[in-house]
Amino acid sequence: KADSPYSLLTPERLKEVLKPRLKFTHKGTYGNALLVGGSYGKIGAITLAAKAALRAGVGLLTVQTPMVGYSILQVAVPEAMALSDAHEQHITAFPEEVNQYQCIGIGPGLGQAADTALALEKLFRQALPPLVLDADALNLLALDRQLLRNLPANSILTPHPKEFERLASPAKHDYHRLQLLKDFCQEHECYVVLKGYHTCIGTPTGECYFNTTGNPGMATGGTGDTLTGILAGLRAQGFSPLDTCLVGVYLHGLAGDLAAEQEGEYALIASDVTQYLGKAFQQLL
Ligand code: AMP
Ligand code: MG
Repeated sequence: KADSPYSLLTPERLKEVLKPRLKFTHKGTYGNALLVGGSYGKIGAITLAAKAALRAGVGLLTVQTPMVGYSILQVAVPEAMALSDAHEQHITAFPEEVNQYQCIGIGPGLGQAADTALALEKLFRQALPPLVLDADALNLLALDRQLLRNLPANSILTPHPKEFERLASPAKHDYHRLQLLKDFCQEHECYVVLKGYHTCIGTPTGECYFNTTGNPGMATGGTGDTLTGILAGLRAQGFSPLDTCLVGVYLHGLAGDLAAEQEGEYALIASDVTQYLGKAFQQLL
């Protein structure tokens, strides 16, 4: 409806956004994304994000983990370049030259160490490429309101309802949560992907888009990390923040639906979503 801020995410709208790749292009055409995350015992989360970013078509991918993740990542994701933090177990500083990247995705497996929070604070004081923030990056924002106020405009945040509650405030009911979502996006000039069944995408101008793909098979550890990778991969390719959210969320759910057709909802795991991402793209192209 023209006068309603709410709309459904339909494949028709996305088909206008997602175009086949042009022949005379190369990896430089499709952006270099940086993913930062992982901590001792949670290197899997950033690995899942990395694989998904690659499957989303990014030209080049760099992944920064603490030292403990370096070899794991090089073996698990040979397509990605690896950077190591100076710390063994968690992130303490972001890379110096962040402007060589077209998007930075931060959060999967990051942990909430005090020096990770300081690193984020320092990062926000620099001129930055577009950001995608998830998981513990969001939890760190929720713990430090000043950090949240310094959030760069047009960032993409991907909380599940619990993470959103920490960022905003507890919702009395679902409609209240939508109102909180709209207020939050407007106040912080950001895009929020509020995840769940019917993921809702809020924009800085107060619109809300509801996703129509996805299934309860995706209610399993790691599927959110794959979404972060997809969004960072798309954003680095030059999609606008809104198009990134719309295309990324729809494809992520569609890949989950295609995976569930084959594997069933019980057995579905996050890696399956990434594995079916190619088929999801093909349906949309
Ligand atoms: P996270 O909680 O960060 O691991 O993210 C979970 C991901 O799986 C989000 O993208 C959710 O939208 C998706 N998901 C979880 N449960 C469901 C469900 N019941 N139906 C559809 N999608 C779901
Ligand atoms: Mg998550």
